[in-house]
Amino acid sequence: MTADYDAVVYDLDGTLVRLDVDWAAVGREVSTLLRDAGVDPDDLDTWELLTAAEDAGIGDAVHDCIADHEVAGAETGRLLETAEELPLDVPVGVCSLNAEVACRRALDRHGLADAVSVVAGRDTVPARKPDPRALEWVAGELGVDVQRVLFVGDSESDETTAERAGADFRWV
Ligand SMILES: [Mg+2]
Repeated sequence: MTADYDAVVYDLDGTLVRLDVDWAAVGREVSTLLRDAGVDPDDLDTWELLTAAEDAGIGDAVHDCIADHEVAGAETGRLLETAEELPLDVPVGVCSLNAEVACRRALDRHGLADAVSVVAGRDTVPARKPDPRALEWVAGELGVDVQRVLFVGDSESDETTAERAGADFRWV
């Protein structure tokens, strides 16, 4: 599989590991922060809430709030089957919407840190998926052309990211 590519990049949550995060609780806490800042949080998903928070000037506080849950979720999250294919004979990266510290914690905990040479969380890359710059940044750090990358993920957003960046995509 990997012989056709110069590098393989994985999404984290739902692809390599399942973070044990109560996203409903995250949504309630973040919504409170937004209401306190005068923003209506209704009908927004987690990442839309974060964007709204950034627009309202409280992006750091909301990022930290989500990250606390993600790090806790990394402590008890479980390894998924796709992770069994690591290590690979080509460079491996992670491109995630989760906080980098939580990604690293999850990889460390499951003994995957040595198999992954670049870890990009939402606070690492210049833009968040499905913006292709997230994946392009990881490819650049891996020293490969993004069009020679296989991106592996579990969401439409991941697939869109790959398409926009010109990388191949594999669903898990
Ligand atoms: Mg995912």
